[in-house]
Amino acid sequence: MNFWSRDYVAAVASFHLALEKLSERGIAVSHRRLEIGQLGPQEEKLAIDVALIGPPQATRWVMISSGVHGVEGFAGSAIQLSILAQLKPLPDDTALAFIHIVNPYGMAWLRRVNESNVDLNRNMLIPGEEYSGEPEGYAALSPLINEPMTPRKKDGFLLRAMLYVAKNGFAETKQAFAEGQYERPQCLQYGGGELEVGSALLLDWLKENLNDVKRCVWIDLHTGLGKTGHDTLLVEIAPADPILARLRRHYGKRITSLDAEAGIAYKIRGGLQAGVEARFPNIEWTSITQEFGTVGPYAVIAALRSENQWTQWGGWRGRETLNHWSRDKLLTTFRLKKPKWEEKLITRGRKLFTDALADLTTSTVEAMAVEQNR
Ligand SMILES: [Zn+2]
Repeated sequence: MNFWSRDYVAAVASFHLALEKLSERGIAVSHRRLEIGQLGPQEEKLAIDVALIGPPQATRWVMISSGVHGVEGFAGSAIQLSILAQLKPLPDDTALAFIHIVNPYGMAWLRRVNESNVDLNRNMLIPGEEYSGEPEGYAALSPLINEPMTPRKKDGFLLRAMLYVAKNGFAETKQAFAEGQYERPQCLQYGGGELEVGSALLLDWLKENLNDVKRCVWIDLHTGLGKTGHDTLLVEIAPADPILARLRRHYGKRITSLDAEAGIAYKIRGGLQAGVEARFPNIEWTSITQEFGTVGPYAVIAALRSENQWTQWGGWRGRETLNHWSRDKLLTTFRLKKPKWEEKLITRGRKLFTDALADLTTSTVEAMAVEQNR
């Protein structure tokens, strides 16, 4: 069965069909479309599809979200569809929450950011934190990654980027690039000036539905970071925290702390999972970002840079923007058209879901014991 959709419209149709099939099997499904008030290139209404599967009063959830980085939603949707297609009966007191595409604008228009050029994984600041500031080093990096001109295929960017990194350090450059900035709305890694519509809609839905939940294992699906086809499981837990050791025992060595020194990752501001956790402090969360590698980091940044140049300074509007090479390039950077890669994602995505379900039903007592000893 092919779970890979050609565009946002097809992905949504497949998601709806998968939910209908579950209902026909007698499984409790509640589904809503949270419309963000934007249209896609086929004049379709863009919405975050959310579905609760299982008893509405369940105290244990596995939540799976994808597409917070729009164009990465092709992979996330495929993984969700494969899980839904082969869903086994759930354990007692357990429900599944599927958030199909957190950033429908980005998926429909082949962007990583939303309709306001905002990275929604930098937009969920902790309550009280201000939408201002930028990481050390971003101002120096900005002229290289945000050149205000129409992109050119060959402009020596890779060489210039490598020279920049050689001079400033890989970990430092990565951190300066990726942390999130709140000062330059047209530039890369912009986290916004306020809570975005999509972020707010999602929070409202969670508020309505999380009342009875005591424990939640949340998988947020991404592509673009790490070795081709491999997955890294990123968690916002300090390297020395005993919780990290427990997670490694259960989920394996792929569990990686979100710490620039610890591996491929970096610290971020306004992350979706940390932002939601902070707003629901009474729930025991295990939040994992599953990242699948595509192409190398320079190629990823080159693709992001060109696409943003095109969007900001290309001079085109509406559907014509989709016909530019930079949008194609962005798509093929975050969604490889290779059967092996596709297969690996489905296999690993399903495996993590199975592990999450097992974690939820077996380890609560052990997790609480570790928690008390912190
Ligand atoms: Zn991502």
